[in-house]
Amino acid sequence: MKALLDRARSFKRRVDFESGEYRKLAEGQYPEALFITCSDSRVIPALITGARPGEIFELRNAGNIVPPHGRQGASGEAATIEYALEVLGVQDIVVCGHSHCGAMGALKSGDDLSALPGVDAWLDLARPELAPLLDGACEDPSMPAVAQLNVVNQLEALRSYPVTKPRLDAGRLRLHGWYYEVDTGQVHELDEDGHFRVHAA
Ligand SMILES: [Zn+2]
Repeated sequence: MKALLDRARSFKRRVDFESGEYRKLAEGQYPEALFITCSDSRVIPALITGARPGEIFELRNAGNIVPPHGRQGASGEAATIEYALEVLGVQDIVVCGHSHCGAMGALKSGDDLSALPGVDAWLDLARPELAPLLDGACEDPSMPAVAQLNVVNQLEALRSYPVTKPRLDAGRLRLHGWYYEVDTGQVHELDEDGHFRVHAA
């Protein structure tokens, strides 16, 4: 933690806050996209996309899960999605899964999560739709198939939100599915035919 703290303490000195770019941030935020991804420390949206401060609005949780609309109780996910669309006017949402995901790994392996009731209950939101892939041994520890299907499922969950549906119907909102490899940096994009592919820059 010490290195992190030292860098935080010297951050203001290391960055040119006198520049117009940072001064302008005080006027408001106008992010281009809502980026929904896992809490995993190896997935850094700004690093992957080259985003500058103010360019992406982030929603992160274990397994980049979008709870189905209408789930009872306060939801940080529902609030963040609503705010991004209604207030910030975001027109693109990325759901980005990743390789070697601990959440996907726990689902795939059927680990006993009784010592982690919070994790277990949270992963229950993703479990039913992943069921076809959760039986059998795991051949590839990076689990692309599970993580990619999970992205597809969470995009589907997003479509169920009242705040997304009219925008999607009117062509004012685009949904993007990504799968990021933490060990290679490769980004795979979900195509309209339902397959994830690497696109040339
Ligand atoms: Zn993860």
